[in-house]
Amino acid sequence: TRRLVVVLGDQLNADSAVFDDFDKAQDVIWMAEVEDESTHVWTHKARIALFLAAMRHYRDARRTDGYDVDYRQLDEGTKSSLGEELKDAIDRHRPESIAMVQPGEYRVQQQIEQVADAVELPLEVLEDRHFFSTPAEFAEHAKGRKQLRLEFFYRELRKKHQILLEDDGEPIGGDWNYDGENRESFGKKGPGKLPEVPSFRSHGPTQDVLQLVEDRFASHPGELEHFNWPTTPGQAERALDHFIEHRLPTFGQYQDALWTDEPFLYHSLLASSLNLKLLDPRKVVAAAEEAYRTGHAPLASVEGFIRQILGWREYVRGIYWHFMPQYLERNALAAHAPLPEFYWTGDTDMHCLHQVIGQTLRHGYAHHIQRLMVTGLFAMLLGVDPRQVHVWYLAVYVDAVEWVELPNTLGMSQYGDGGIMASKPYCASGAYINRMSNYCQGCRFKPSKATGDEACPFTTLYWDFLARHQQQLSGNNRMNMQLKNLERKGKEELQEIRKQAEKLRDKIH
Ligand code: FAD
Ligand code: SF4
Repeated sequence: TRRLVVVLGDQLNADSAVFDDFDKAQDVIWMAEVEDESTHVWTHKARIALFLAAMRHYRDARRTDGYDVDYRQLDEGTKSSLGEELKDAIDRHRPESIAMVQPGEYRVQQQIEQVADAVELPLEVLEDRHFFSTPAEFAEHAKGRKQLRLEFFYRELRKKHQILLEDDGEPIGGDWNYDGENRESFGKKGPGKLPEVPSFRSHGPTQDVLQLVEDRFASHPGELEHFNWPTTPGQAERALDHFIEHRLPTFGQYQDALWTDEPFLYHSLLASSLNLKLLDPRKVVAAAEEAYRTGHAPLASVEGFIRQILGWREYVRGIYWHFMPQYLERNALAAHAPLPEFYWTGDTDMHCLHQVIGQTLRHGYAHHIQRLMVTGLFAMLLGVDPRQVHVWYLAVYVDAVEWVELPNTLGMSQYGDGGIMASKPYCASGAYINRMSNYCQGCRFKPSKATGDEACPFTTLYWDFLARHQQQLSGNNRMNMQLKNLERKGKEELQEIRKQAEKLRDKIH
């Protein structure tokens, strides 16, 4: 063998750089399912099933294309780690070199580099062309800037890739940002009839894998009963078409809204397909722009959606590679509490958390505001160790890959990076959840109360959080209003709140 070409579970694009000078007569694709990748964090069954099913479909498609694929299945008794399996593959094929695209996780890149070093083989790490930008471009953007902000990186990418621009290079509609039009709740009347989610038949390898996961990872969190994620490029494309047709026009308006027993609302559900590279983000962005140009969807919705993919998705990847591996160790608010047990079961009388964790266990999915302003917010207010919060998010979402999960969790949701991802902590009381959802109506607590039997734990912990971090946050202008409100609280009232917070903490832990 000339080259052993490593393809990882989140690198399932047929046009990846490893195929540029692939010689079918002399090169071999190597893929392996190993236990460690599902157990190093206690992974949701649906996430395990999605990765394995998509890998097996990819293997079959490449074999049909005439590639030699050495594929190691979990049920054929693979070694537990990727590194050990890779060593075996090197023994089998005796390649002259190894090639791979840059992995989505620092740990995996290290593991593969260590094996290549140990066996003294050259390892070529190729650019991941799936993304609009590269880590080097991000580093260039970051150079000399005191503060990184999504907005500026996003505008650069809009210009570079000519997206939603007028002929003179100005943004279509005159503004770069339509966030102001994208923050509605469903009010009292609720969302009404929502579009159906398309169904994806589990065929071939997907069925085998669902059984395998049910048998082998029985004790893992989550359910497979509702598994309905695209596992092939064809299915992912159908998911995109369905979203553009039925959800995109209303996506922006209700992007931040939440509603009881409605896990999907107008969201695209495309993150897992994008992150496994079943779907090209260029195709997604182009389809959204086209929907604006043909009058199918309003500008605010289309810009809001494109901002998520061309903006946030590229930006967080830049942050990840720019700040790893130190990023993982950051804990700016010195938070050390353990993650409450109910994050793995949903067994809590806080209705918002019960809803969001419940749907997470059912589907491996929650939308952005559920992740940020319910599960994420509660963990931050309680003072949970950001590393433990990170482990949970990496485990329970079907779209979780560390490059995107870590900056969102440790940075945006926990303020663990001290302001790299977000210019201030996303802290709020139960009043925010009450405004954006109907969760509080089904709850035994009252979002307006910070003390007493009916006090909403979010509200109690919100004031306690501000009081605990008052000094640290006082240098931040964007916190002025919240800190001013804290100062308005009487000494006795605040003492009462802090006592209640202490009791709450004792009860939860
Ligand atoms: P939509 O709401 O339809 O958004 C469209 C697309 O934009 C998404 O598919 C996604 O690709 C992209 N996107 C949106 N927001 C972000 C963001 N903040 N960062 C990067 N891309 C974004 N996203 C992941 O892909 N994997 C993760 O592991 C992940 N972990 C998160 C953890 C926390 C604590 C938070 C607050 C956010 C996390 N996100 C993650 C970002 C976001 O919540 C999900 O991308 C989104 O909810 C996925 O659902 P969707 O495909 O329906 O997205
Ligand atoms: Fe959540 Fe508090 Fe509302 Fe209950 S009252 S649903 S705990 S925000």
